[in-house]
Amino acid sequence: MGPRALSSQRSVCGHMKWLVSFSALISVVMSWGPLGHSLIGSIAQTRLTPRAQHKVRQILSESRDPTLAGIASWADQIKGSRTVDYSWAAQLHFVNTKSWACKFTPVVDCPKLGSCVVDAIANYSQRLAINDKQVQSEALKFLVHFVGDVHQPLHVAFKDDRGGNNLRGNWAGFRGSLHALWDAPLLRKRIDVDFQGRPVSYEKYL
Ligand SMILES: [Zn+2]
Repeated sequence: MGPRALSSQRSVCGHMKWLVSFSALISVVMSWGPLGHSLIGSIAQTRLTPRAQHKVRQILSESRDPTLAGIASWADQIKGSRTVDYSWAAQLHFVNTKSWACKFTPVVDCPKLGSCVVDAIANYSQRLAINDKQVQSEALKFLVHFVGDVHQPLHVAFKDDRGGNNLRGNWAGFRGSLHALWDAPLLRKRIDVDFQGRPVSYEKYL
């Protein structure tokens, strides 16, 4: 894994405040099952220059859908792979802090290289610059996914409740953890209620 790129004492609460204000703008923030990741990838794709889009297509040429949306969930799909063991990557999807710590302290919250999403984003950003197509392809797939993950509030959350996984309840017919609620049902409901169940309409709105 690459060197750490973040200074200490990053403000988790500041990040959360940003998320809250962002979510106020769009009513509900994007959630992060396959649909949420795909939406984030689609929006990111529209922000690329033509040159960057071309480069993305080149790097992902072996993927069935060589777009940011097309590969956005790859890092989740490989979790159960029987051909390649990616179990080492499980801890790269999130970072937890002490409850209500309001700051991210790398030596405490991400003590070993490759032990959280913050390191992973720094590492795969650097690996993307290595002139090797296989390395670049894996790096881009991880990077797109992890940048999506950190915008799910419970992927940057508290150790004590395992990012909301230990908090269980009911909401509009959904029964499960707060984390899972954020991953998909919130988003699904938003699209069903306000966008006639059409993710493309929601994407255009965003
Ligand atoms: Zn993930």
